[in-house]
Amino acid sequence: MSGVRAPTGDRRRGVAILGSTGSIGTSALQVLGRQPDAFRVAALTAHGNAALLREQAARFAPTFVGCVAPNGSACDPAWATGPAALIAAATRPDADIVLNAVVGAAGLDATLAALGAGKRVALANKESLVVGGGLVLEAARRGGGELVPVDSEHSAILQCLAGRPGHEVRRLILTASGGPFRAWPAERIADARLEDALKHPTWTMGRKITVDSATLANKALEVIEAHVLFGLPYDRIEVVVHPQSIIHSMVEFVDGSVLAQLGQPTMEVPILYAFTHPDRIPDAGLPPFDPVRTGALTFEAVRHDAFPTLGLGIAAGRQGGGAPAVFNAANEEAVARFLDGTLRFGEIPKAIGSALDALGGTPAADRAALGALDAAARAHARNWRPAVLV
Ligand code: NDP
Ligand code: MG
Repeated sequence: MSGVRAPTGDRRRGVAILGSTGSIGTSALQVLGRQPDAFRVAALTAHGNAALLREQAARFAPTFVGCVAPNGSACDPAWATGPAALIAAATRPDADIVLNAVVGAAGLDATLAALGAGKRVALANKESLVVGGGLVLEAARRGGGELVPVDSEHSAILQCLAGRPGHEVRRLILTASGGPFRAWPAERIADARLEDALKHPTWTMGRKITVDSATLANKALEVIEAHVLFGLPYDRIEVVVHPQSIIHSMVEFVDGSVLAQLGQPTMEVPILYAFTHPDRIPDAGLPPFDPVRTGALTFEAVRHDAFPTLGLGIAAGRQGGGAPAVFNAANEEAVARFLDGTLRFGEIPKAIGSALDALGGTPAADRAALGALDAAARAHARNWRPAVLV
């Protein structure tokens, strides 16, 4: 297997899973449970879900367990606690691969630390790249770490590119399911309820990314993620709505040939691929792909008028500097307010737009400046109120 060290005496690669109790984390443990000869679980971390973490630790016997913000007494005294636990897990000497499946900008420092320590980072935490893309690439260069995307669209693009150079690529085409409001009229979307936003048509995921998929903020984060990962300018990265989520993304080459990567919508495939890239190993976890049962694959243009968050995010990406970090922080805060009932669905892009107007032009070259900007954008979105018409 290229690029990943095997520890002496044990040829299995060690995997640290940050965010093991979440949607990606539990899918990763499903995958690893089927691959006991190829991988061992080196470390597990959760935020506060100590009960599930305890079950996972009992089954996979990692050498390190971290509970970042333990709730009450459920935490084992042997576990590491606090944000430093995340960094410790990300830099464990017995971990060759670090799966970052933490949600939000809270994952950035662990990505930087793991890459700085020369690890392969299987990156689900796309917010790391949106907030600190330049820092992440620099940490990989300095530390000799390797970044492999877990996000299904970016895994698809990586597989379609197959190592071909950027000058052979005409366009990246990211697919989007369109979310639960794909066919709703714009006026109805503005008043969508939480239970509607949480009903994703094709994927089962954590709450934050599920709301991001309903606003299309997730696709904006993914366009920025693709720009950072693959180094293509924004005018060569496009989004198309593909409601079946079978084609995970496409690459158009300069000779007109278009390659796509297909499969059922399950994160288990891109998670395993991020562990083994560029190699492949057998996995009997999923039924064979059946094109006839899959049926018709359809495509639609994005309705930018109904989903303004996508345009806001792409514009922030194009603006560069601190703007993507402001977009991300304001979005995280606006989604948290929608989840706790203090913001309407249609107000999410307004709160983000207001934060970008106020703070998007702020430069943020280093980690400290990014942290300050992140905090300011969160405060702005938290305090944002709709204008009262008199
Ligand atoms: P979940 O909310 O399901 O899980 C998040 C995980 O991170 C949990 O283990 C949680 O612990 C932990 N966590 C939450 N906050 C913090 C924090 N501040 N510090 C440390 N750990 C924390 O999210 P998902 O699994 O859905 O998503 C994880 C990441 O993967 C996101 O960046 C998302 O965009 C990305 N992604 C997800 C996909 C999916 O299918 N779910 C697809 C592609 C990308 P606890 O359970 O204890 O709260
Ligand atoms: Mg995705």
